[in-house]
Amino acid sequence: MMPYTLNIAHLYGDLMNTYGDIGNILVLNYYAKQMNVTLTSEIVSLNQPFDPEKFDLAFFGGGQDYEQVIVSKDIQGKKKALTDFIEDNGPVLAICGGYQLLGQYYIGAQGERIEGINALPHYTKSQDNNRFIGDIIIKNAETNQTYHGFENHNGVTFLGEGERPLGTVVSGHGNNGQDKSEGAIYKNVFCSYFHGPILARNGELAKRLLLIALKRKYPDADLSAQEKLRIKPTY
Ligand code: GLN
Repeated sequence: MMPYTLNIAHLYGDLMNTYGDIGNILVLNYYAKQMNVTLTSEIVSLNQPFDPEKFDLAFFGGGQDYEQVIVSKDIQGKKKALTDFIEDNGPVLAICGGYQLLGQYYIGAQGERIEGINALPHYTKSQDNNRFIGDIIIKNAETNQTYHGFENHNGVTFLGEGERPLGTVVSGHGNNGQDKSEGAIYKNVFCSYFHGPILARNGELAKRLLLIALKRKYPDADLSAQEKLRIKPTY
């Protein structure tokens, strides 16, 4: 197997890292090593451009409303580059606050409107004096895989045209507590409210992201060994 390299953009990793979402990068690294992939990652934060040519994967963690307001202003300057990356099938994992900011807007707990970049069509409202907190289990329709996680959010998200949920809620609340959807998939963007971090308990999703990134960067490579990597259940 030839050695592969993948470079991750950790979007606002210094501001958006609720409940150790950075652990997702550790998990990607764990599986990348087994796939003969050298992973590098760098934080792309305030006043730093996002260069879609430089990155093979982007990760955007969760954050509190305070940080989201700051990030919301800055990310408008990266809107075109991020949208280009997404439209060019770049793989992205976005959690909670990051998920909300990729959409149209998020109404914060104080009623303030926090603009997203509208790269995905979902929008997020706030609940009155309530948060969705607790363990959650969902099922992904395409793969039949079950994902386990922990959710903690005030926002209630409604998906738009062209988006499908990451999974159907088996137990827990999910996007909005109403339509049994959790998270979103659009092109190669995977969004979720799962902390935990999500990939630590759902290795199949980590493998999927790495394979998408590898196939996109090395379209002619024989990745059959990587496809065969067995993921042991971790929950
Ligand atoms: N502030 C957002 C909410 O409560 C996101 C929180 C988070 O990322 N955990 O919905």
